[in-house]
Amino acid sequence: MAEAHLTQRDIEAGLRQLGLSQGNIVLMHSSLASMGWVEGGANTVLSALLSVLGPDGTLVVPIFGDFGVLTKLVENHPHAVRSVHPLAAVAAIGRDAAAICRDHWKAELAHGPDTPYVRIADLGGWVLLLGVDQDRNTTLHTVEELLRLPYLRTTEEETFETPVGAVTKSWPLFPGPHRNFIGSDALLRASGKMTVGRIGTAVTRLIRSRDLIDIMVEYGRTNPAWALCDNPNCPDCVAQLAALRRDRLTKESFHLAAGSRLAGRYIPEMIDNLTAAGIRAVELDWVQGRPACSLGRRLAGVCDEFRAAGIVVSALRAEAVTENHEAVLDSARTAGIMRLVLPLSSRAGLIGRAASDKQMEVSFFNVAMSSEIASQMLLDMQSDGLKPRFTFSAAGFARAGEEPFLKSYKRKLRRFVDQLDVADATFEGAATPLACGNGEIKEMISILRCAGFDGWLTLASGGPDGEGLRQTCDRFMCLLDHM
Ligand SMILES: [Zn+2]
Repeated sequence: MAEAHLTQRDIEAGLRQLGLSQGNIVLMHSSLASMGWVEGGANTVLSALLSVLGPDGTLVVPIFGDFGVLTKLVENHPHAVRSVHPLAAVAAIGRDAAAICRDHWKAELAHGPDTPYVRIADLGGWVLLLGVDQDRNTTLHTVEELLRLPYLRTTEEETFETPVGAVTKSWPLFPGPHRNFIGSDALLRASGKMTVGRIGTAVTRLIRSRDLIDIMVEYGRTNPAWALCDNPNCPDCVAQLAALRRDRLTKESFHLAAGSRLAGRYIPEMIDNLTAAGIRAVELDWVQGRPACSLGRRLAGVCDEFRAAGIVVSALRAEAVTENHEAVLDSARTAGIMRLVLPLSSRAGLIGRAASDKQMEVSFFNVAMSSEIASQMLLDMQSDGLKPRFTFSAAGFARAGEEPFLKSYKRKLRRFVDQLDVADATFEGAATPLACGNGEIKEMISILRCAGFDGWLTLASGGPDGEGLRQTCDRFMCLLDHM
């Protein structure tokens, strides 16, 4: 590729062709190096910009962090005005420079209302990307802040000088360490509001700040993760996505838990995976390759580890209770677990009575039985004066050859349900990813949500070859988001 050779006249022509003219206000992000060879270097580019904008125009650049030689030149210009802010300052040259920069530090948010960024939008100004991509577009931080995205954090307090003396302040809703703004470009191009051109070798983008903010705020309302990357090895975005998911789940009536076997094998691994998934409750089924109900006295220590990490233990689950059920109840109670999830069997009444005597709850789940038999067993317990609870295993009913939503759920079971096992299986008995089997799991989740269900939805492992917590949770959130 031939090196561009640019004069001031070339750059002015390029800027005008892009849509800039006298009197415009422009927030610029730039890379001089991307333009090719410029006669006179950065000074020439700055002269071209000031010439196109004219005496009534205003050029603004963010000056925090290292934003290149052109930025430095604007900042050190004899007519430059600087906004006072330790984290988000700008420098401006031109008619509206003082009005744009005024009292930046007083604003609630670093990039929000009463800051240069929103003022530029209010004044009909533009965002110019000169040889850089959306990753450098500071106004996208304005969008994150205006959306008050739940992963944004309050900064550490800082003491800094202002025209009225030293001030100590922190900023709420400040953008996180990593973001992925590049993905916004396709959306902005598709909007038809952004002009894309070229000056020398530099690709240039120009859009009204107001349009940029409106388009991205509108998009961000339904896509709150728009600014984050989806790299599972980016710890910043993993944590930020988990914060989004936790916030998302607080808007639901149900409580979400995950089975411990799905979460991992060892406890620190389970805690990491649950935390990354934004899930704050675990149902203990298997721990370190052993049934959790066989841990005896060690169960209390396991629970302590989860609680120390801020994870609630929703229940102790056993696939079978062949040994002395009193011992299982007592070890759960000692560990502070007052709820058990156990198979519905002929011994359910006996176990239910023992639990009731200890002020503990048992929720029974269906195993290889029809809904007719399950509901009859629950009704029998009820007529014996117990208050039976039911963990609806859609995969269990599918394995029994029933249609869980169309048949099982509608048959007298709903009044007992305090948990839905979120897992799927085929009529032939094979475990499948969520909503890929015959468990009608999407319908089950939807109908419970419609009724304001406030029990547990527990992500359950589909078996040894099943998907891990991350994939299962992603699938679950995807189902929720498409209801
Ligand atoms: Zn990231």
